[in-house]
This record gives sequence, C-alpha cells and structure tokens, in this order.
Amino acid sequence: MDAVQELTERLKQAEHAVVLTGAGASTESGLPDFRSRDGLWRNVDPMKLASMTALRQNPVAFFQFYRMRLSRLQGAEPNRVHTGLARLQQAGYIKAVITQNIDGLHQAAGSTGVIEVHGSLRECVCLTCERRFPSELIDVDVQTEADVPRCPECEGMLKPGVILFEEVLPMDAVERAIAETERADLFIVIGSSLEVAPVNQFPAMAVMGGADLAILNMEPTHLDGHARWVIRRRAGEVVSEMVRQLGLPVC
Ligand code: NAD
Repeated sequence: MDAVQELTERLKQAEHAVVLTGAGASTESGLPDFRSRDGLWRNVDPMKLASMTALRQNPVAFFQFYRMRLSRLQGAEPNRVHTGLARLQQAGYIKAVITQNIDGLHQAAGSTGVIEVHGSLRECVCLTCERRFPSELIDVDVQTEADVPRCPECEGMLKPGVILFEEVLPMDAVERAIAETERADLFIVIGSSLEVAPVNQFPAMAVMGGADLAILNMEPTHLDGHARWVIRRRAGEVVSEMVRQLGLPVC
C-alpha cells in the first residue's frame, strides 16, 4: 500500500478528520503562493506591503498590491483540491476545513463552515466603524493618496478583509479552529509551508492530542518529522486519488 492508500484507509476509520489548507491548495487554480519558487513574496518584503504599517505609510503601493491580488482572484476557479475536499466533507469523511487562504475557493467548491483564520479578500472593512462591504469597494485605481478607498458610511479608510501583518487574528475563527484541532484524530495539512504562526501550531497541537498527522506539501516543512505520512506531490492529484479510492465521483 502506498502512502495515499494508507491515508485513505485511515480517513475511512477517522472519527474526526480535520484539514488545514494553505496557499498551496490554490496554486492549481493559478493563484501564486507566498514562499515557493514562484511565490508572491519572492520579490517583495511582506512587511513592506501586507502590513498595517504599509497601509498607513504607503497606501498607494498597498492598494495597488491588493488590487493585483483581487484581479487574480476574480478569474480563479476551485481546483481538484477544493472540489475533492468538498466531496469528502459532504460524504462525512472530513469534519472541518480550516484555511489560511483568503480566496474563498473552498466555499465556491461547496465546502461548508470553512474556518478562515486569515480573513477573506472577498470583502473589505472600514478601519473606523468596522462595517464590512464587498471587495468591489477597494477594487479601484489608486494613484495618489486622494484615491484611497473610503467607507461609504463614515469616510474612514477601508482595508481588505484579510488579516495583515501586525493585526491579531479573528478570535472566533481561532477558537473554532482550536476546538476542531483538539477533537481531531486525523489532521491533514495541504499546501502550507507551516511558517506562519499561530496556525502552524495547530498540527503539533493535534499530534499532542493523539491525532495522526498527514502533510501533503511539495516542499519539506519543519513538522515533517512528526507526520505519519509526508506526501510531496501535487495536492490536486493526491486529493483526487483519495476521492477515487473512496468510490466518490471525481471532479
Ligand atoms: P506558503 O506560500 O508559505 O506555502 C505554500 C506551500 O504550498 C509551499 O511549501 C509549496 O511548496 C506548497 N505547494 C504549492 N503548490 C502546491 C501543490 N500544488 N501541491 C502541494 N503543495 C503545494 O503558504 P501558507 O503556508 O499558506 O502561508 C501562509 C499565508 O499565505 C497565509 O497568510 C495566506 O493567507 C497566504 N496566501 C493565501 C493565498 C490564497 O488565498 N490563495 C495565496 C497566497 C498567500
């Protein structure tokens, strides 16, 4: 039996399987990840563009960067990772999906109750009144500070609905993610370098609670030594194989 077959067999027996996805789950949809060879952070310093300091000190570059990310998102469709996980969740094999992604593609594929620990780029939020709006309001051409998008209700500065560096994570999402992690008897990481805290502590927390850990990632992670299965293949192929082995229709 190879690792994918073993993992599928384990999934069949699992009482509470939880999946944690990262940017690598969406690269097959054409969205670049952050840290691999073609990642978004190869040529930019994240602190210079995706932080609260950048938003306040250099809003023009900040909004241009997020507009570029939004434009990529608009053409993106769920791939085999998203559709496969949705099938596994609908069939009852997976109990929760925790994602670091901000692209909304799990929901677009049909997953429900997705825990978005880093927020969503599908909406934006006012820094003053904290009202939320669709992301169309920040999809504007910002050439000077006068163009910076403003809240239609109170004129406060808008910010993408994603969690920036220097911001705290949404407490409700983190609490739900921890509760699912603590219940997990199987924890599967898909497409994450596991370099971003505190999310990268969830797999270790699951292992400490007695869960089996599987890591499906093209590159090594610092938690590989704790995983029962490390599968360094394209996640779309692996998830499709699991769906097929379970006798579910492959998308
Ligand atoms: P990361 O870029 O640090 O790591 C992604 C990992 O996925 C890499 O190790 C890479 O080898 C692996 N990978 C890439 N394509 C793969 C594939 N087809 N199959 C298997 N593995 C693959 O991403 P991360 O760990 O999620 O970093 C966290 C941050 O990235 C989060 O804050 C998240 O919000 C942000 N992010 C999200 C998106 C998105 O929403 N699509 C895109 C870029 C970055």
